Amino acid sequence: APRGPVGAIRTTCAYCGVGCGVLATPDGRGGAAISGDPEHPANFGRLCSKGSALGETLGLEDRLLYPMIRCSKGTMEQVAWSDALDHVASRFAHIVKRDGPGAVAFYLSGQLLTEDYYVANKLMKGFIGSANVDTNSRLCMSSSVAGQRRAFGADTVPGCYEDLEQADLLVLVGSNAAWCHPVLYQRMLANKQKRGARMVVIDPRRTDTAGDAELFLGLKPGTDTALFSGLLVHLADNGALDPDYIERYTGGFDEALARARSIAGSVGATALATGLSEQDVADFFRIFAATPRVVTLYSQGVNQSAQGTDKVNAIINCHLATGRIGKPGASPFSLTGQPNAMGGREVGGLANQLAAHMRFTPPDIDRVRRFWKASRIATHEGLKAVQMFEAIARGEIKALWVIGTNPAVSLPDADAARAALKKLELFVVSENVRSNDTVNAGAHVLLPAQAWGEKSGTVTNSERRISRQRAFLEPAGEARPDWWIVSEVAKRLGFGAAFDFNSAADIFREHAALSAFENSGGRDFDIGALQSLSDQAFDALTPVQWPTRQDNSQPQPRFFANGGFFSSDFKARFIAPEIPALRTETTAGRPLRLNTGRIRDQWHTMTRSGLSPRLGQHLPEPFVEVHPDDALKFGVTDGSFARVTTDHGQCTLKVVVSERQQRGMLFAPIHWSEATATGSRVGALVAPFTDPFSGQPENKATPASITPY
Ligand code: SF4
Repeated sequence: APRGPVGAIRTTCAYCGVGCGVLATPDGRGGAAISGDPEHPANFGRLCSKGSALGETLGLEDRLLYPMIRCSKGTMEQVAWSDALDHVASRFAHIVKRDGPGAVAFYLSGQLLTEDYYVANKLMKGFIGSANVDTNSRLCMSSSVAGQRRAFGADTVPGCYEDLEQADLLVLVGSNAAWCHPVLYQRMLANKQKRGARMVVIDPRRTDTAGDAELFLGLKPGTDTALFSGLLVHLADNGALDPDYIERYTGGFDEALARARSIAGSVGATALATGLSEQDVADFFRIFAATPRVVTLYSQGVNQSAQGTDKVNAIINCHLATGRIGKPGASPFSLTGQPNAMGGREVGGLANQLAAHMRFTPPDIDRVRRFWKASRIATHEGLKAVQMFEAIARGEIKALWVIGTNPAVSLPDADAARAALKKLELFVVSENVRSNDTVNAGAHVLLPAQAWGEKSGTVTNSERRISRQRAFLEPAGEARPDWWIVSEVAKRLGFGAAFDFNSAADIFREHAALSAFENSGGRDFDIGALQSLSDQAFDALTPVQWPTRQDNSQPQPRFFANGGFFSSDFKARFIAPEIPALRTETTAGRPLRLNTGRIRDQWHTMTRSGLSPRLGQHLPEPFVEVHPDDALKFGVTDGSFARVTTDHGQCTLKVVVSERQQRGMLFAPIHWSEATATGSRVGALVAPFTDPFSGQPENKATPASITPY
């Protein structure tokens, strides 16, 4: 693999969607020194606390080292790889034959490499014949995917990271980037400091990110659509539109504006709908209208909502209406949470997509079928994450293969999800660790997967940049790459010719070739120029943004400055959003709303970040943040323990009384679980309401109560 200046291996961080380049220098004893890669265009050598502590997470502690099968006595027994793979294949084959392809499902992860994702999708959608393959990315950014597809005709991020340094105004909506995308946030702060860029933060919580903003809009939960509807009206009424852009490149503006007027037709109406002061609303509208170079960044606070797709489109509407899209320093920008949520989208890792951003339309289905020589291709969308687990609970899905994720902690209504797992006839888990809440929910087969530092392939970050993850350690025990495990099962199912992959490079070449197959610019995702990479060239691949088309390998860092959308008429669509309303009201018994999210130094369910003592020092235990007035009202005090209850579950948490929290709201981090802190599975409290377009659950506003413990 390409080496850095001191003999280090160049790779990419295991954690977030910023996708920072890392130099890893193995110490020969199973560990490695970690530093930022100065040549990687995402981070230019910087790493955040999580990235810098990666070296502390490389040990063999808790690793799953060999395949295991639950034997007739109920205990897990070590078996040979061939026996485990034979067992998985024969059980899947039996259930598909007996109950049809809809009775089986895969649940994947934004932590997987693109090559792992590609092979799992190919097996389920092209050969088993079901689209029941979804991913934890559904919980992360699927509302952005749906919003972009509605507006642009494709899931295309129009801008790039350089825009954050070229913007004169940065608007962060539902994004605590200071904690969740720290290196990218440093680039924004540098712009603020060097060029005087202005910053507006829109969030129900006064986060660390809000602390750096000149204007903080602490709006009521669920009212983002009202705010951006009000903004669209303001832009229209104050001569701040780009009529030429609207006329030439878009459709549906009049209807969207009429709907915006009915939602928030004035500054006063916007203030009323959002709970903000008229002055703050007017200031935001004025600054936005007066600043051509504006990037609006949005993340889980927008996406994780039962109206997340409408929120995304309300934001995009304002950028389309002003022509501020795909230009230096001007774009809407979805900040992806996970390291390879984008790569997963590219291979069709969501139940409602086909590979290479193709859709479940007859021409695309036929195209993918012919390219794969698929024996039994899925012809309609599969079940999205929450629906998938509901179908498991009803007994309709009988076999599930979970790869690299921990749904017993991370799904909404996590107690119900965990109970559903116990009903499965076949429950397979591919994992790095031998114990977590999902494994402990009764897995029948455990397959040891290679971890970060051992596996090799590609990931794509939030600006569409594909980077290599490279191995720099020997695999732990008998751990194998996820793509190899899936391919071996596929071969045993009788699909050997289509899964005869010998390396990640083999899979990447096929993925790149499919992206270019019968594509003359009608699809955004096209990396055809990379389909003939030699093994050596794949090994040496430097970070590259897509598209990289065969006929035009010039970089295209931005899209849509001059139209060219991926719809049938090449125009963007304004979307008229629904009237914003949360799915449930608070009641006398549930008078508060629970907002869940991440903290700075932990990642997801802590299976990796929890190994680092340094990261554990920041916020060492699970907590619930409460406004001082609510603490007084409900009789809880700072540092005491309290019970937080919703209609779905309850857990006990340490109380942090803080003015950062809005009155009427609670905040609790998502990371801890019964494997890490007994009784603290916050996912069990979250209502399983989902967005009608994206299927993304609403993690930010479950009615809740708090009582002293
Ligand atoms: Fe890793 Fe994200 Fe931190 Fe970069 S910002 S070092 S990708 S966790």
